[in-house]
Amino acid sequence: MARVQDYLRKSKMPHIWCAGCGHGIVMGALIRAIDRVGLEKDRTVVVSGIGCSSRAPGYMDFDTLHTTHGRALAFATGVKVANPSLNVIVITGDGDAAAIGGNHLIHAARRNIGITTICFDNSIYGMTSGQYSPMTPTGRIATTAPYGNVDQAFDLCELLKGAGATYVARSTTYHVPQTINLIARALEHKGFAFVDVLSQCPTYYGRRNKLGGAIEMMNWFKDNAVPVQKAKQMTREDLRDKVVIGEMYVADEPEYTGHYQMIVDRAQGRGAGR
Ligand code: SF4
Repeated sequence: MARVQDYLRKSKMPHIWCAGCGHGIVMGALIRAIDRVGLEKDRTVVVSGIGCSSRAPGYMDFDTLHTTHGRALAFATGVKVANPSLNVIVITGDGDAAAIGGNHLIHAARRNIGITTICFDNSIYGMTSGQYSPMTPTGRIATTAPYGNVDQAFDLCELLKGAGATYVARSTTYHVPQTINLIARALEHKGFAFVDVLSQCPTYYGRRNKLGGAIEMMNWFKDNAVPVQKAKQMTREDLRDKVVIGEMYVADEPEYTGHYQMIVDRAQGRGAGR
């Protein structure tokens, strides 16, 4: 097994995430999962949009793309369609993925394109100083919701399952071995794979909402996470303010680029059904 440092661009260190930020934990889990499943560095492309999460590809020693806000999946789709043999990984935040890039997210899932997307989900726009995102729970304080957010948060896993993703899972920065396992499973999955990882932002989300520092926020994950099997026995009321973690959905459906190639072959008079 290689060391984590072997996957990092040392010239980019030290990183600029705040002390106690969860994003380094998620990046570390992703690196360990990549190492576990044995992805080749030169055959792996990591794409991000904009945001605190999206600094991660700058620190990772792969072919990386830091793209425009919310557009990581559009760029990644281009990479995957151009060369389906590449391992394509998208790193995105909850604002980048579910608001600005929301359409790209649901359509990538609908196509079941073979991209692994990891959402570094901190419930806030951290980089731009704490505006509420589609993952900010109702009632929480944000720069743009100083008296409390009135919107409901998405359940991103349910959204992605409904949109057509064929691997959907959730974990937190407290549950590191589980996060590594789930990301490794996602990387080995053939279709669109999505892992939502709850990550603490003590600087904007935690401080504004008086949730304590990083340790208290991670303890909240520990105390309020419910394994998906147990959640099935619980009522909606029991699950209020809880976080369901684990593998939510796995299915075997045709992957987009393979299906697309079949259509190209058919149009060019090759293969079955011409
Ligand atoms: S603002 Fe929040 S998410 Fe961004 S680096 Fe700081 S702690 Fe992390």
